[in-house]
Amino acid sequence: MNAGPWLSVPPPGYGGIENVIATLVPELRRLGVRVVLASVGSSTLPVDEQVSVFADGQFAALQRPYNQVCGIAQAHLAGVVRELHSRDDIDLVHDHVEAVGLATLAAMGPAGPPTLHTLHWDLAKHPALYGSLDGGDRVRVNGVSASQLARAPLALREHSVGHVHLSTPLAVDADRRPRPEKGEHLLILGRINPGKGQDVGARLAHRVGLPLVLAGPVGPYHRPADLAAAGDEARQNPDVRFFLDEVAPHVDGDLVRWVGTVAGQERDDLLASARASLFPLRWEEPGGTAVVESLALGTPVVATARGCLPELIEHGRTGLLTTDEEELGDLLLAAELLDPDECRRVAAQRFTPAVMAQRYVELYERVRQSARAP
Ligand code: UDP
Repeated sequence: MNAGPWLSVPPPGYGGIENVIATLVPELRRLGVRVVLASVGSSTLPVDEQVSVFADGQFAALQRPYNQVCGIAQAHLAGVVRELHSRDDIDLVHDHVEAVGLATLAAMGPAGPPTLHTLHWDLAKHPALYGSLDGGDRVRVNGVSASQLARAPLALREHSVGHVHLSTPLAVDADRRPRPEKGEHLLILGRINPGKGQDVGARLAHRVGLPLVLAGPVGPYHRPADLAAAGDEARQNPDVRFFLDEVAPHVDGDLVRWVGTVAGQERDDLLASARASLFPLRWEEPGGTAVVESLALGTPVVATARGCLPELIEHGRTGLLTTDEEELGDLLLAAELLDPDECRRVAAQRFTPAVMAQRYVELYERVRQSARAP
């Protein structure tokens, strides 16, 4: 399992990919899969063996110039390739290192083990990141939704073995967890970013007169006080400009509030007590972790029908979808008709870590079979 050089597994705070790995690995081991983790030394996830080039996560280095960022990824991967050359007990590599990981492992050719690379982003606009995949049938990719795969560059789609929806530990026994008191508020949980559409949500909340909580970081700023203290320099970040220019004018601290990044129990309580969670998307959401988390905690989803949303949400059962931004306002008012328990039941069937691991074991077998094929 190649987690990369950026963050420890599980991650200390933010870290979507590392969270997926931390959720998947214990379930794989329960199914009898032996897992060697290529990560950073500070990872604490129980595994059978760990391989590390860096003692600690290099996340802060992502702010450096692009060639230095690639250099760090390459150094990590050189360690992984060295390891693979030196042993013959690795049956398959499950790689999560964006773009450069798959290219490097593919370049090993027949000397490398079969490789499954999980796509984590919407890559439609970045075909050049992957280029052509040498390594033929030994390297395969999977998406985190059918929609993400459908939009991926042809070079990747040709190597696809399917998709696996994301899961959340919150979905385990979700239908048996105590029902939280539902409040009046709507919630948008996620990075503040034009693609996530917080400006649309804030405007709609005023129109329909429902309180809205915006939770998530603005660029590198996790707390309103940090952003306020940062001064004009903060505007260099595009997400900060988006927030200040498009969202903040609607944030009155009363009906619409920005609370910064929330984590742990605070995050779960905010999500579980929301009347609905809102995703007024302007991008093709590739995997939608926060969507799955919302269902697991019994909160129906109101969203623009983009990206993976139509795959995750059953309209009229676990949420309400529309292609019309303005109609979202009406749907917000209708969301209280949906049954929170039904959301939790669906999550407990479809989005548990065990379901995700089972599906990955199937894909691993497919990857190994196609690597064996003449
Ligand atoms: N998240 C969080 N606190 C916040 C905002 C987001 O813990 O204030 C988490 C959220 O619960 C989810 C992840 O960050 O687990 C975001 O993943 P998602 O796939 O929804 O969006 P991405 O940022 O990957 O596009």
